[in-house]
Amino acid sequence: MRMQLASKLPAVGTTIFSVMSELAAKHNAVNLGQGFPDFEPPAQLRDALARAVADGRNQYPPGIGVGALREQIAHKTAAMYGRNTNPDTEVTVTSGATEAIFAAIAATVSAGDEVIVLDPAYDCYVPAIELQNATAIRVPLRQPDFAVDWQRVAEAISPRTRMLIVNSPHNPTGAVLDAVDLDRLAELLRDTPIIVLSDEVYEHIVFDGHAHQSVARHDELAARSFVISSFGKTYHCTGWKIGYCVAPPPLTAELRKVHQYLTFATFAPAQWALAEMLASEPQHHLQLADFYQAKRDRFRALLADTPLILRDVPGGYFQLVDYSPIRDVDDATFSQWLVREVGVAGVPLSPFFETSPDIRLLRLCFAKSDATLVAGAERLAELKPV
Ligand code: PMP
Ligand code: GLN
Repeated sequence: MRMQLASKLPAVGTTIFSVMSELAAKHNAVNLGQGFPDFEPPAQLRDALARAVADGRNQYPPGIGVGALREQIAHKTAAMYGRNTNPDTEVTVTSGATEAIFAAIAATVSAGDEVIVLDPAYDCYVPAIELQNATAIRVPLRQPDFAVDWQRVAEAISPRTRMLIVNSPHNPTGAVLDAVDLDRLAELLRDTPIIVLSDEVYEHIVFDGHAHQSVARHDELAARSFVISSFGKTYHCTGWKIGYCVAPPPLTAELRKVHQYLTFATFAPAQWALAEMLASEPQHHLQLADFYQAKRDRFRALLADTPLILRDVPGGYFQLVDYSPIRDVDDATFSQWLVREVGVAGVPLSPFFETSPDIRLLRLCFAKSDATLVAGAERLAELKPV
């Protein structure tokens, strides 16, 4: 019998992040596409990692995460959001936020369930939902500010809704939730069994003096939420892939059942290094917002003389630009042209939507050294209006 393989994810190809990074390399372009810093993690953290290896932290750590790191995560959650959590029953270290997201969905969403996903959305949610034979119900964010339309969310809730996914600061748009949003969400879910998955990987990158509204701050929401974050964004070490999930004991117990067979445990030396970093410099993440706000403002100033229209950036490390004054083509065509002809890689927005909208927006990452931002802006300055 010939092997016939029916794909479980027929619509999935290579992610737009990998595609644009490969094109950037091929065309020797300035890479403002895939979201990763082109500068190093703090020296202290790199030294701690090398020391952890030298000190023999090289065998399987506890599956749920090194105790010292889970304790630091619990301290941080209490200090930032006023929520006390038990590191043994409510904190799990995972291989990046991506693993925590997959494990949370796989552990709680069953065949036939519905999961509400705001549209556009970060790319890993929907495939994880579909692998459970569940259905993603996409609710469009409001245009042009990408705020949540809670009335539309309310209309999307059905007896089959198992989970609702929020992401603040939001990738790809940079929109952030405020305290009123969290109250609205709590109100909508009050008499339902719906679980919240809150992707907060950019939690420390919120601008203009605003405080990040973690669902961990909100008693009612925290009681039904997986709160997921990542050290990759906070310590400029996206390649280490260390994330974590904070959730009440019953949710954590289910998440751990999947985590234990998905990866069992996560790279031990980095866990020890991060535990040391958090213990010795618990305030470190507090300067991250100012650090990235300065980059945001520098990048915006560099782009000010181009025909690109700059959208507001309340959080995260991406600048959305409206390129309609330059070319009236779809965003896939524009981003391919830009990387090939202008030598700048950005990420088109359409892959984040259920169906490509008629918008002319490109995402540019400003988590880059000044030299990279200047080089990118110099090339973008050559753009001429049509
Ligand atoms: N969620 C969002 C919104 C992200 O932007 C990213 C990565 N950039 C992730 C999750 C994945 O994080 P990690 O690399 O820790 O898996
Ligand atoms: N999250 C990063 C971004 O938005 C990319 C991560 C990845 O390549 N999977 O660009």
